[in-house]
Amino acid sequence: MTDQAGRRPLIAGNWKMNGLKAEGLALADAVLAGVRGSAWRCELLVCPPATLLSLIGERLKGSPVRLGAQDCHPKPNGAHTGDIAAPMLADIGCRFVIVGHSERRADHNESDGLVKAKAEAAMAASLIPILCVGETLAVRDRGDALSVVAAQLAASLPAGASADKLVVAYEPVWAIGTGRTPTAADIGAMHQALRAALKHHLGAESDRMRILYGGSVKGSNAVEILAVDGVDGALIGGASLKAEEFLTIARACA
Ligand code: PEP
Repeated sequence: MTDQAGRRPLIAGNWKMNGLKAEGLALADAVLAGVRGSAWRCELLVCPPATLLSLIGERLKGSPVRLGAQDCHPKPNGAHTGDIAAPMLADIGCRFVIVGHSERRADHNESDGLVKAKAEAAMAASLIPILCVGETLAVRDRGDALSVVAAQLAASLPAGASADKLVVAYEPVWAIGTGRTPTAADIGAMHQALRAALKHHLGAESDRMRILYGGSVKGSNAVEILAVDGVDGALIGGASLKAEEFLTIARACA
């Protein structure tokens, strides 16, 4: 795992649409029990479903585990039934919000432009957006992954992005929830391409911006994935629902 240029690794759990109150609290408590008493080289984050944010946020208070949300609306308020605005998330203690996850891009037809607007709304509310990009299997198979993902990043990059205000997550769509992962060489090549794209768009300051890998990270492959040059942490779905797996991945940063 790298931490060149002062990049502190980030280990982020995306709980997705999972957990009623009792399960969410039990999971948070199990993570907290494992976290206490150790000094963590990485920053730790959990992103519960919206219904649990306040409850879990209370539980995390005073701990090193940060709270994040899974989505936000591009507007700060207004007539948008069922949506949640970034200032509302900040108000209940969120520090991060995932934007542009491939499940939202697919299930809700989210375009790069909308993702960019969401990331800008998050930054305006002092949240750090975790901007997800990644290629489909068809794109990977035809050999276009690097250029397609770099273009996706360029089109969804929020104005005013800087290393402290944005995190990028490379999540190949075909690796999410499938148990399949790219080779270490492919992950390294993509992270290098994304780093070059960030430098092109944002200048040298972006050297300090974190680029996570996400897609079927688990305890058993975390050491190998987190050791890839340029990987600054992980965005974890399924494995973040088991405290011990999540903590094993976090320990792999050491
Ligand atoms: C995700 O949804 O961001 C993800 C990486 O999922 P999983 O770890 O389950 O592949």
